[in-house]
Amino acid sequence: MDKPVRRTAPPELIAELKTLLGERLSTSGAVCEQHGHDESYHETASPDAVAFAQSTEEVSAIVKACAKHRVPVVAFGTGTSLEGHVAALEGGVCIDLMGMNKIVSVRPEDLDVTVQAGVTRKQLNEFLRDQGLFFPVDPGADASLGGMAATRASGTNAVRYGTMKEAVLSATVVLPDGQIITTASRAKKSAAGYDLTHLFVGCEGTLGIITELTLRLYGIPEAISAAVCSFPSVEAAVNTVILIIQSGIPVARMELLDETSVMAVNRFAKLDLLEKPTLFFEFHGSQQGVAEQAETVGAIAAEEGGERFTWAAKTEDRSKMWQARHDAYYAALALKPSCKGLTTDVCVPISRLAEAIGDTRADISQSFLTAAIVGHVGDGNFHTIFLIEPGNEKDLSEAKRLSGRMVERALAMGGTCTGEHGIGTGKMHYLEKEFGPAVDLMRTLKRAIDPLNIMNPGKVIRV
Ligand SMILES: Cc1cc2nc3c(=O)[nH]c(=O)nc-3n(C[C@H](O)[C@H](O)[C@H](O)COP(=O)(O)OP(=O)(O)OC[C@H]3O[C@@H](n4cnc5c(N)ncnc54)[C@H](O)[C@@H]3O)c2cc1C
Repeated sequence: MDKPVRRTAPPELIAELKTLLGERLSTSGAVCEQHGHDESYHETASPDAVAFAQSTEEVSAIVKACAKHRVPVVAFGTGTSLEGHVAALEGGVCIDLMGMNKIVSVRPEDLDVTVQAGVTRKQLNEFLRDQGLFFPVDPGADASLGGMAATRASGTNAVRYGTMKEAVLSATVVLPDGQIITTASRAKKSAAGYDLTHLFVGCEGTLGIITELTLRLYGIPEAISAAVCSFPSVEAAVNTVILIIQSGIPVARMELLDETSVMAVNRFAKLDLLEKPTLFFEFHGSQQGVAEQAETVGAIAAEEGGERFTWAAKTEDRSKMWQARHDAYYAALALKPSCKGLTTDVCVPISRLAEAIGDTRADISQSFLTAAIVGHVGDGNFHTIFLIEPGNEKDLSEAKRLSGRMVERALAMGGTCTGEHGIGTGKMHYLEKEFGPAVDLMRTLKRAIDPLNIMNPGKVIRV
């Protein structure tokens, strides 16, 4: 691939932005470096300046100034993405949206909320708790809602409540020429025109910058209960998941940890789970509904050889269990503290999940790398975390080889190269494989909306 050519922000642009933002424009090396990388192994590419925006109008003014100088603009939420998403490959200005953290309005009667893009999922849920409401999409990290919309993120609750695709009702977006648009009304459904909302959900900042979102909310269920169960094999665990889905049981969360992940979370979170493939479940509903769901799931698990079906009915036990699951990435890293993680995710039709995970496990057992598998298995989605020594080319190329095999298998099974992490720079060539000529239509859209190619250039598709 050609090395990206930098389109450095000229002094006149920096001066213009300084006048606009004052102290909220930084050209400090440390600040730029911190905004030039995500949580992954991908190399840092620092922007020339970081603009800390506080309103939609300010984002629009920054984008207009950058467009005038044909300088790239990279949106930055919390920087927790995993495919090199925020690296400023061609330099330019990073717009940090974390100062845009106001909850604009909540409408309990309509079960929706409007937030600025920098609000994080935990901030929103803390705000909503007293009103008996919650927002369900929960990637492991406490990401910004703007970043989550931009990556079409999901998490442990997606099996019941869907992903950001379902959660976003409408977005306010600053286009590459600085124009401000709103993509839809607050109506729960609409047949009006092209679906602009879903053009921007998942665009990874390559078509525009989301400054506000209207999101669907849910009532906190009357009863919540969680359970953990170990299985003799990954296949038995996944078969349990398939049977549960096919039985139509509305499980709220259903997460798989392989033996290595269980060992890692046992050490990291001081748990004493059996070091075998394990499913974490959560049930939402009325007291009676939850009891019935749990009983049926327990019976299905027992048929597949499930053992030590353990309940976590108390809030603190449940929180401990899910915190351990959300920390699985850091727990895996702690197995080899000198290593970094190369983490990848694929998603396959649920009927092929056992095979996809089994083949990946077989690849790992024949490799010299340590790797852990965790999965939002109710959706057919799983992640592998390969532990690689920084700077060790042999580790990196082996992890990329195995990750490539995961993707090839997923595509051959009718799946996708990423269920939730997105494309960034890391999976651009797989997008071409997955979509074939349809990528040309994506390219046409990108060129029409961003003719100067200033919005997060070098990501998602090559133009
Ligand atoms: C430990 C760990 C666990 C994770 N688990 C999950 C998981 O379960 N599910 C999942 O989906 N992801 C997961 N992720 C990945 C990551 O948290 C998500 O991709 C998240 O949505 C990124 O949000 P962010 O605010 O950090 O975005 P950033 O990393 O700041 O940005 C991500 C991309 O979106 C663009 N962007 C950011 N904000 C905006 C905006 N307002 N408008 C337009 N574009 C924007 C950026 O330019 C970039 O391309 C995990 C990451 C970690 C480190």
